[in-house]
Amino acid sequence: MATQPWIPDAGAHQAVALEVLLHGPISRSEIARRLQLSAGSLTRLSTPLIESGLLVEVGERGDGRAGRPSRPLDVIPSSRHFIGMKLMGDQVIGALTDLRAGVLASESTQLTSTRPDDVVASIADMAARLAVHVPAVTALGIGIGGLLDESGVVISAPFLEWENVPLAALVEAASGIPTVVANDLVAFTEYEHWFGAAREVDRFAVITLGAGVGYGLVANGGIVASEDSGIGLVGHWPLDPYGPVCPSGHRGCARSILTQAAIVSGVSTALGRVVDYDEALSLAEKGEAAARRVVDDAGRGLGRLLAAVANLTVPHMIVLGGEGVRLVDVAYAAVLEGIQLDRDPRAHDVPLITTTGDNTEWCRGAAVIAIQRYVLGAPN
Ligand SMILES: [Zn+2]
Repeated sequence: MATQPWIPDAGAHQAVALEVLLHGPISRSEIARRLQLSAGSLTRLSTPLIESGLLVEVGERGDGRAGRPSRPLDVIPSSRHFIGMKLMGDQVIGALTDLRAGVLASESTQLTSTRPDDVVASIADMAARLAVHVPAVTALGIGIGGLLDESGVVISAPFLEWENVPLAALVEAASGIPTVVANDLVAFTEYEHWFGAAREVDRFAVITLGAGVGYGLVANGGIVASEDSGIGLVGHWPLDPYGPVCPSGHRGCARSILTQAAIVSGVSTALGRVVDYDEALSLAEKGEAAARRVVDDAGRGLGRLLAAVANLTVPHMIVLGGEGVRLVDVAYAAVLEGIQLDRDPRAHDVPLITTTGDNTEWCRGAAVIAIQRYVLGAPN
């Protein structure tokens, strides 16, 4: 389904508009510096964007110098609306956002079955409920923990038992909204890159904790991804030679000690009763010995994973997220200990940024995929 593109041409006009979207309000001199444009070229490029209403001049920001004050440029975030959703095994969560992935409304719904037709119907219903708040929705993005192709076909999503489901096309037909589908970790990383904690950082890594262990990397200002993004490769990174065995047969890999299921299993087994993830962490916080040990082992493993990421990909920042991210707080001393085990003492500390772990972050990520498709145009 065709949408009128944000910028008709994908060249210099788009570059100017993108700087304003990502960094606005921003002065003309700063845009010119970032894009290495002369003042004259910038005026020539920005004038039609302002005349068309895409960019606006905002309140004056005096620079203390004589002459005509520079009026920063910005976009109007509420000029366009998007929907981002995260599809999980038993529920769908969604958020309505503006052009900068700011959340205006959110929804969630339980899935009664994982049959593609039923899931598509639930997604279309939710899109309709979110869309009532705004005049129009420009595009819909769906994040999913699985392997996808460029056209939005889910090649494999084991948690839904799906293979080769053309999800983007099905949702587009059912909802009437142009739809893109992306791996959820890629979407989360793109959100951090465009509008999140790492938006001014040229090279950073993302680690997510939850049902799995996710890893994302942005280098030279662009995400590093491949057709294997979605397998969850970092989940098998070895962390503890004496740890439990994962379903693929790795002893002490990231998945075997860092996932919510691994921590729940470790603490439940030790205590002889079933606890959930939050209770396992709370028991550790209170000093319950067995929970403390399991959680600290996980924390130390996470520290070693962070050290590996820091050593191999040299990020300026590591963003930690996902619904299991509370582990970082509860086991912080063990995390630092794990980092120290594998870092050269001369190496600088890599800033660690912990996000809220709120599921809405995944929806914002999916919305950013939709925003990117609209703003940058389709890749093919
Ligand atoms: Zn493994």
